Amino acid sequence: MSKSKSPVSKPTQLISAGRDKKYTHGVVNPPVQRASTVLFDTVAEKTQATINRANKALFYGRRGTQTHFAFQDAMVELEGGFGCALYPCGTAAISNAILSFVEAGDHILMVDTCYEPTRDFCNTMLKRLGVETTYYAPTIGEEISELIQPNTKILFLESPGSVTMEVQNVPLLAEIAHNNDMIVMLDNTWSAGLHFSPFDYGVDISIQAATKYIVGHSDVMLGTAIATEAYWEQLRENSYLMGQCISPDDAYLGLRGIRTLDLRLKQHQQSSLAVAKWLQARPEVDHVRHPALETCPGHEYFARDFTGGNGLFSFVMKSQNSKATTALLDGMELFGMGYSWGGYESLILANEPRSFNSLRTVANPNFTGTLFRIHTGLENVDDLIKDLENGFARYNAVLNAQ
Ligand SMILES: *Cc1c(COP(=O)(O)O)cnc(C)c1O
Repeated sequence: MSKSKSPVSKPTQLISAGRDKKYTHGVVNPPVQRASTVLFDTVAEKTQATINRANKALFYGRRGTQTHFAFQDAMVELEGGFGCALYPCGTAAISNAILSFVEAGDHILMVDTCYEPTRDFCNTMLKRLGVETTYYAPTIGEEISELIQPNTKILFLESPGSVTMEVQNVPLLAEIAHNNDMIVMLDNTWSAGLHFSPFDYGVDISIQAATKYIVGHSDVMLGTAIATEAYWEQLRENSYLMGQCISPDDAYLGLRGIRTLDLRLKQHQQSSLAVAKWLQARPEVDHVRHPALETCPGHEYFARDFTGGNGLFSFVMKSQNSKATTALLDGMELFGMGYSWGGYESLILANEPRSFNSLRTVANPNFTGTLFRIHTGLENVDDLIKDLENGFARYNAVLNAQ
């Protein structure tokens, strides 16, 4: 098999991504190459490896082995950009990407709907290092200009937003940021890099919790950050200095996940839409926050910029009753209760309205009812709906008994 010369679609590209013969040595998948020490036969070989140590030459385990290089290449084929840095989890990818580009006295703009540990990182570590954070509403447009200071270094986006799912106007915000010499970073976990092409919309560094859909099987923690050529060296070298590296076994599993990414997302999306539409018709539900539906804030940007969705969305109930919520959750048979998402299995979590008082500082959605977040897994969708239907019956039984 030689590398395809004619242009092919993304799903086809993901089948061969990273499978260069220099990594695979003639079998389908690259071997899991475990290494700390790399041995050199001659001084000349060692010198050559040192020169190319940041350019996929085997040098020392922390710089990666052929398994890592294959995964990095595949991630760049998936999302675009120039180079991909690997981290032991998504949170490490976020904190290292930010730390690689700030210094004391800098200021960053962070979306109010960011992943909770991202907010905690800004409020504790960045603050201690003398870097100030201003939160902005995910729905912001041109008004972002008013928040930019002479020392504002980074615009950080996460679209759709954590838990409340607001889709951002990425190209508009990126353009304004670039006009002010800022670096644009995006937590691109939700799109898995497949359904939103960050570098076509002005993003400089695209970050993923590969723990989610890239790995896809809830069995590995993994983070990635892909930079354009302009920012690659600084990201790579600073992350390296902070000791960021992953095991080849984890890189292998990330690479394996990429092969079925398109197929899995198609099913997650189809099932989640069916569940979301079923929920929309339920009298207990106030509204559904699924980016592919008009009731989701920023749906117009999803429709404009994304090529597809997945299994993760939220819905808000008309009422708030913790006993009824507990009855619903405790009896679920197919939807598991637990953090994370992106695996093959369905998950459900609840957020009471008051929890947003601490999770949001400028964009509190002020729900009156409980928000449930669902990850629609790969089970048969009729079974999933039945599980939810039974959950709603338990919910109503508690409400009616009071
Ligand atoms: C899970 C998640 C992260 C963090 O990833 P970990 O691998 O769990 O550290 C970051 N951003 C988003 C949007 C996530 O969902």
